[in-house]
Amino acid sequence: MAHPLHHAQSSVRKWGGAVEDYLAIHAWFDESKKIVADFRHRALRHHAEGVFLAEQVFGVTITTSAGREIPVRWIGEQHVTEDLGFIPSAADWLRRIDPSSWMNRSRRLSRALAKQRIEESSVARSGDSASGMVPSFQITQDQLRLAETSKGLGKSLRLN
Ligand SMILES: [Zn+2]
Repeated sequence: MAHPLHHAQSSVRKWGGAVEDYLAIHAWFDESKKIVADFRHRALRHHAEGVFLAEQVFGVTITTSAGREIPVRWIGEQHVTEDLGFIPSAADWLRRIDPSSWMNRSRRLSRALAKQRIEESSVARSGDSASGMVPSFQITQDQLRLAETSKGLGKSLRLN
């Protein structure tokens, strides 16, 4: 695996200047190695969006110690291409995730919230009955619709 230093030396060969001109950018790309110490760390920044993110972090261009202005995107593209042979999209990485049940808990939350709303409305309705007011059939229909909508949302979010 290439070290940021070697990427920086490669940048010097391409665009001149000194290693220090490029080192921070290359170190930023590989910083995710502190999260996962193997090649999988690259999923976080080694893609097209990562190249654009580098531009947001370091600016559109850097000026080398030799006085030459170099686009940060060029440096990012150089880094990713040297590591992977091409510039994948973030989606290329994400599609390779092996889904596990813990990654998709939103369905359970929507069900829990719908159930909670129904229970809260029931308590409110029983309060109305106690006060002699007419129980609201409309609220019950809304509750059912809400529960069905939540169920539908949960289904559409489920990974298959
Ligand atoms: Zn790298």
